[in-house]
Amino acid sequence: MPAKSTRKKKTHTVKKAVKTVKRNTKATAVSPDPVATDIKAVKPVTEVKPAAKKVETKVEAKPAAKKAETKVEAKPAEKKVETKAEAKPAAKKAETKVEAKPAEKKAEAKAEAKPAAKKAETKVEAKPTEKKSETKVEAKPAAKKVETKAEAKPAAKKAETKVEAKPAEKKVEAKAEAKPAAKKVETKAEAKPAEKKADVKAEAKPAAKKAEAKVEAKPVEEKKEEPVKELPQPRRSVAFIGSECYPFVKTGGLGDVMYALPKELAKQNCDVKVILPRYACIPEKYQEKMVYRGSFDMNLCSDGRSFYVGIMEYVWDGVVYDFIDNQEFFTNGNPYTNLIDDIPKFCYFSKAALAALNYMDWEPDVIHCHDWQAALVPVYLDTMFKDTPIGGAKTVLTIHNLRFQGIYDKRMISYWTGLPDYVFNKDALTVKWLDANMLKGGLTYADAITTVSGTYAWEIQTPEYGEDLDAHLRYHSGKLRGIVNGIDYDIWNPATDPRLANNYDLGNVLTEKRKNKKALQEELGLEVDDGKFVIGLVSRLTNQKGLDLVNEILPQLIDGNTQVVILGTGDAQYEDSFRYYENAYKGQVCSNIMYDETRAHHIYAGADALLVPSRFEPCGLTQLIAMHYGDIPIVRETGGLKDTVEPYNEYTNWGNGFTFDRYESGLLLDAVNRAKTLYFTNRWCWDEMVQRNMDKDVSWESSARQYRDLYVDLTR
Ligand code: ADP
Repeated sequence: MPAKSTRKKKTHTVKKAVKTVKRNTKATAVSPDPVATDIKAVKPVTEVKPAAKKVETKVEAKPAAKKAETKVEAKPAEKKVETKAEAKPAAKKAETKVEAKPAEKKAEAKAEAKPAAKKAETKVEAKPTEKKSETKVEAKPAAKKVETKAEAKPAAKKAETKVEAKPAEKKVEAKAEAKPAAKKVETKAEAKPAEKKADVKAEAKPAAKKAEAKVEAKPVEEKKEEPVKELPQPRRSVAFIGSECYPFVKTGGLGDVMYALPKELAKQNCDVKVILPRYACIPEKYQEKMVYRGSFDMNLCSDGRSFYVGIMEYVWDGVVYDFIDNQEFFTNGNPYTNLIDDIPKFCYFSKAALAALNYMDWEPDVIHCHDWQAALVPVYLDTMFKDTPIGGAKTVLTIHNLRFQGIYDKRMISYWTGLPDYVFNKDALTVKWLDANMLKGGLTYADAITTVSGTYAWEIQTPEYGEDLDAHLRYHSGKLRGIVNGIDYDIWNPATDPRLANNYDLGNVLTEKRKNKKALQEELGLEVDDGKFVIGLVSRLTNQKGLDLVNEILPQLIDGNTQVVILGTGDAQYEDSFRYYENAYKGQVCSNIMYDETRAHHIYAGADALLVPSRFEPCGLTQLIAMHYGDIPIVRETGGLKDTVEPYNEYTNWGNGFTFDRYESGLLLDAVNRAKTLYFTNRWCWDEMVQRNMDKDVSWESSARQYRDLYVDLTR
């Protein structure tokens, strides 16, 4: 019994400590340096967020109050915020109109926001009002409710009218967008109505005396008054161009980023379109929801050979996805096959994506492209598309993995791209005289280069990690910076994850995680015992991921108290060796040689520790997911792993995981043994670290804000 109470105290102390440290960190935080050479530039950025939040809070509290004063229904300022993000077409149109007048840029932005907001206002009013009346129904006598409802109805009608009132030509888009918007409103409304009501008390004087009384009579709202969020200004439109995107097609972290970042940017007042290849392997349930937007023929090759470009559209969660359709290029089951096929495929895709933007008459402020597959976009934009409507857009190229560059024979790339000869010079596309490098060309022509962590931004400028482009990157270092990735809390949230046997949060992780561990052991045929130390590994099985180190030490990890669970596909040598170990250590090692999202979730929820001993790691998402699921990462100090996992210090009892620096199996073994030692001999400290990790902010919010700032900087 005493032990129990001590533990509670400890946990409490940890939370306090977490707060204190956050506060301290905030105080010392340095604002991010745009130049990527400074590793520290990124770390503080993640921690700056809470401070930033506070600022928003203060600023936003006022407008909400003001609006409420004017009209009872005008309150849902915060709703407007959301709706604005989704009310894109409306905003766009407003934009166009305003542009025609000689207004300055900033004024434009505001003008755009207003009309959108107006429409949104009316739409949204209906919902919260309805919500409120619903809530009241539970607590209040019927007669009064009727009154409130009567108020709500007309509002709802207005909302309907507005949706229909949208110009015909964009109807498809508008309707489709209206849905996710509605969804969002609902979701947020759950948390907000209570807080809204509190506002009403003060402001609803003219019409809502009754409402006032009702509100007061209500049981005490345990929800804290959340300040109304105002969208950051100015609004920017961004086209994302990349080769994969969850949930349509994903082979690794790029797919996660292409999904989560646009979604978060949409919440931060960006109008986002994501342009993707329409691979035949995209699941039917998405294919059938795509809407045909149009098609045209496009000249591609240097001999004038032309290809069909179809545009299929799908709108979801405030983001518009446009799929480039061409059966010749995208019929394969896998997005990537071999360079002979992939080079023409992505030459075509890069040009078709830009042509599609012109075709759709959508002129983004910024075009954000990803990895070598979309790296020709800045090159095309600065050459063949310069004098087209989208020619003025700024470009950002993000390196998710420098190892893949799209290098092939110069003549072949020249033929397939149809690009002018002058881009095939040694400062742009040409490498080693006879080859062309698509990524290198993109780096030359992009207005800004980002990569996915500050440390990686620095590392790739060194010969060790530069993949032969270090000199080129050093030359362009002025426009290079690192912004660490986040994870999408809608998908990766142990409290709501529908794939888990037992959901858990910070409050019950210590008990519930054990149950998930047992469920995992049962599922995988391991010895069921929640006292075992379970190490997970979820990874592509390639040379990058440090798997030769794991292979070397795996027999030494197995000691009767430890289990190892591997999930991955990739190089045959690793697949085979892990299969071998599963046979050799039955019941203690389980090798899942497959790609399986659900199993990945089970492993994150059931494992105690997650191995990420990468040779290099631009950012790494698995360690972020692991921390959010209460696992302790064991990582090599490289790239994003170094930026996101603070090494555990046994003297201060602080840190997020166990780390090692040089790429040596002995050091990995040492790190695992340190983890085991803490787990088996000092569980309190271990549990505190589990809770600290779950509490750590690894969301996209702050990173998306940095991307937004970059877009605004580029388009000032
Ligand atoms: P990379 O992009 O280099 O593959 P990241 O750590 O950035 O590595 O992202 C890996 C993503 O892919 C994570 O979301 C991880 O859960 C997922 N993943 C990797 N392998 C598998 C697999 N075999 N099954 C399911 N998900 C996997």
